[in-house]
Amino acid sequence: MHYRGRLAPSPTGYLHLGHARTFWIAHERAKARSGALLLRNDDLDAGRSRPEFVRAMLEDLRWLGLHWSEGPDVGGPFGPYDQSARLPLYRQAFEALRQAGAIYPCSCSRQDVVRALSAPHVGEEEPVYPGTCRPRHDDALRNMESSKPRHWRFRVPDGERLGFEDGAVGRCEQVSGADFGDFIVWRKDDLPSYQLACIVDDAAMGITEVVRGADLIASTFRQILLARTLSLPLPSFFHCPLVTDSQGTRLSKRDGATSLRALRAQGCRAEDLRAGWRRDITSTPVPLPPSE
Ligand code: GLU
Repeated sequence: MHYRGRLAPSPTGYLHLGHARTFWIAHERAKARSGALLLRNDDLDAGRSRPEFVRAMLEDLRWLGLHWSEGPDVGGPFGPYDQSARLPLYRQAFEALRQAGAIYPCSCSRQDVVRALSAPHVGEEEPVYPGTCRPRHDDALRNMESSKPRHWRFRVPDGERLGFEDGAVGRCEQVSGADFGDFIVWRKDDLPSYQLACIVDDAAMGITEVVRGADLIASTFRQILLARTLSLPLPSFFHCPLVTDSQGTRLSKRDGATSLRALRAQGCRAEDLRAGWRRDITSTPVPLPPSE
């Protein structure tokens, strides 16, 4: 199959070194396979996404020397490439989940609902849902309806060991219902969660390998369950080690960690960053595609 990779930044802040390194790895992996690389704008979280961050992320990635052949700025056959413009597709998937009896309405207003629009990064993993609104019998689930707007949760199988072979970190396993619980797929303000939108798009855009940060390994198990229920093809996964600062703390947008803009303003050169990553990666056991 022809390799198709993607860069999926969220325009909720300026990209920092951690994003840059992950996106560079995604770029290198697509290039090594003479594959296609697309850019998807993960702008579902309207409260935190801003047009100036969209402009900045495109500009910063170009400055870094990355190229993509499809995206919101260049178009392409799998568009639109802004998640905010793809809502009908997510709604269709939601309906399929509802008809399959895989989800149920939930009136709990917990942190995981608030955060569901964005990919959960370091320190944002939700606690296992205690099952307050979960129907007791499978039959009760099929085609469930809700007269009032409600959040909807995916009911995970109890005690199933799920696993996948990650291209970077090897075998990853988690037990559903123990390591993670029923998770949000749709919010009562009529928006899909990151988990649903992401796997629907990866399938619809023909992605063959997802390259992203290791903090999203936990999300992958949820996406595997969604893909299975929706009969969507599953891409391969390559979760890159996270970049830490000199104290060993992982970088995060919210901490105001070193942004690419700031580094650039200080005179940092993209070719030096890339050369550093290439050295760093070839001296550690992260498998990299052969260089061109
Ligand atoms: N847009 C997500 C983020 O910035 C990443 C989604 C993904 O790669 O699956 O964290």
